[in-house]
Amino acid sequence: MSETKKILIVGGGITGLSAAYYLQKEITEKDLPYEIKLVEAGNRLGGKIKTTRRNGYVIEQGPDSFLSRKEPGVKLVNELGLSDQLVRNGTGQSYILVNGKLHKMPAGSYMGIPVRMRPFLFSGIFSPAGKLRAGMDFVKPRGKAGDQSLGSFFRRRFGNELVENLVEPLLSGIYAGDIDNMSIKATFPNFYHLEQKHRSLIKGLQKTTPKPPKQKKTGAKKQGIFYSFENGLETLVEKLESVLGDIVSLGTGVDHIEKKEHGYHVLLSDGDVYKADAVVMATPHNTVPKIFSQYSVFDDFNDIPATSVANVAMAFDASAIKQDIDGTGFVVSRNSDFRITACTWTHKKWPNAVPEGKALVRCYVGKPSDQAVVDLSDKEITDIVMNDLNKTMNITEEPEFSVISRWKNAMPQYTVGHTERIANVRETMGHQLPGVFLAGSSYEGVGIPDCIGQGEKAVKDVLKYLQG
Ligand code: FAD
Repeated sequence: MSETKKILIVGGGITGLSAAYYLQKEITEKDLPYEIKLVEAGNRLGGKIKTTRRNGYVIEQGPDSFLSRKEPGVKLVNELGLSDQLVRNGTGQSYILVNGKLHKMPAGSYMGIPVRMRPFLFSGIFSPAGKLRAGMDFVKPRGKAGDQSLGSFFRRRFGNELVENLVEPLLSGIYAGDIDNMSIKATFPNFYHLEQKHRSLIKGLQKTTPKPPKQKKTGAKKQGIFYSFENGLETLVEKLESVLGDIVSLGTGVDHIEKKEHGYHVLLSDGDVYKADAVVMATPHNTVPKIFSQYSVFDDFNDIPATSVANVAMAFDASAIKQDIDGTGFVVSRNSDFRITACTWTHKKWPNAVPEGKALVRCYVGKPSDQAVVDLSDKEITDIVMNDLNKTMNITEEPEFSVISRWKNAMPQYTVGHTERIANVRETMGHQLPGVFLAGSSYEGVGIPDCIGQGEKAVKDVLKYLQG
């Protein structure tokens, strides 16, 4: 019988957990002579997925949901038998804060880009000149092929006003980044391809966006596009933890990895050396050059920035909100003097997460130009958020309690050239560090389904490598 091969997964966020799950499944189903170990430096699994359950509230400290249309998320949930615990977000009007006022998000737009023209023309978000400039998209020539910043791409097509008042807060929010640095090819390649194919983005979207069902006729209620679980996103992590069992080591980080004649010597934080035949690195990119300090292949990772954000969840009695808004939340335009970047009325978006008669408001701070806010004290951050909220909502009481979560250097920035940089690193690794694979939010997508998909892909790569 052949000797057992050892596979090490570094990092117990959703990427590492998904990799461990799919690997364990393959090993069991095909009776493969492989052994897995997952090491997580922290004392809990889940990484950025973190749910706090308190006084009947389900509070998400990191992500609050995942996109239902992206296959890897739903597939994993089904495999784990969790589909009956899924909940979709409540839908409703969303708003954008421009010039100190909340405006309804124009109907018939996609990520801020008008698909139907009437709501856009009647919206108070833009000046007549801004509308005219955005309409130039119909006649502007196609841009040059190749990567470019989201900012320069959209400004070229629509002008500054549409970009700063609508497109920027929607697109940059997902990455907590600056659209003038973010790569279009790595973040929203669909827009790039639409321009290359149809020239006008509006025309391209009109041709390719499916028409929404006529609600009046079918009586069907608009369905939310996000999923979470009755008891919060950490449900997924808890299930994976129970399925994986003693494969997982908590409180054990990887300090250093070195290639030897046969496989890799991995120095763990408890001083042990683990000998691995293959390694999946599912940690944030900035840890990788330190762990592989004698290899120059990861030098470029030191130049991939990561921004910080804090989110503030505040629980109130519903009666404390005197000027409630009929909707699920708002995003803040780039030029506003507000320091919050987005606000969710969680009691409306996720009614399952809030006890009857209560309200839960969740806000983000930490624009790329306001990173220092994340280091302020809890009291200072809460005051900033309350001050901003009271400009729109008139909340008369202190929150019953707040949960503030700081995410320092947690949002990897896919800057222009990202896709090519990562492809180059992967190619060099194939020669210099065969059997080591990268997966996770620093590389091919930050969304939870993207991370799960990368974990699954890493398993295919490991198996292919070990099976020669
Ligand atoms: P991580 O979750 O960062 O996990 C990496 C793990 O590696 C960590 O547990 C860490 O402790 C461990 N580690 C680090 N170094 C070592 C070492 N040397 N040895 C061993 N272990 C190590 N996505 C969505 O789809 N929807 C959302 O609503 C959403 N909102 C978000 C809100 C916030 C505030 C943040 C921060 C992210 C959000 N995201 C969202 C993105 C998504 O949550 C992340 O991209 C995803 O969870 C990252 O998973 P990961 O496993 O790749 O990395």
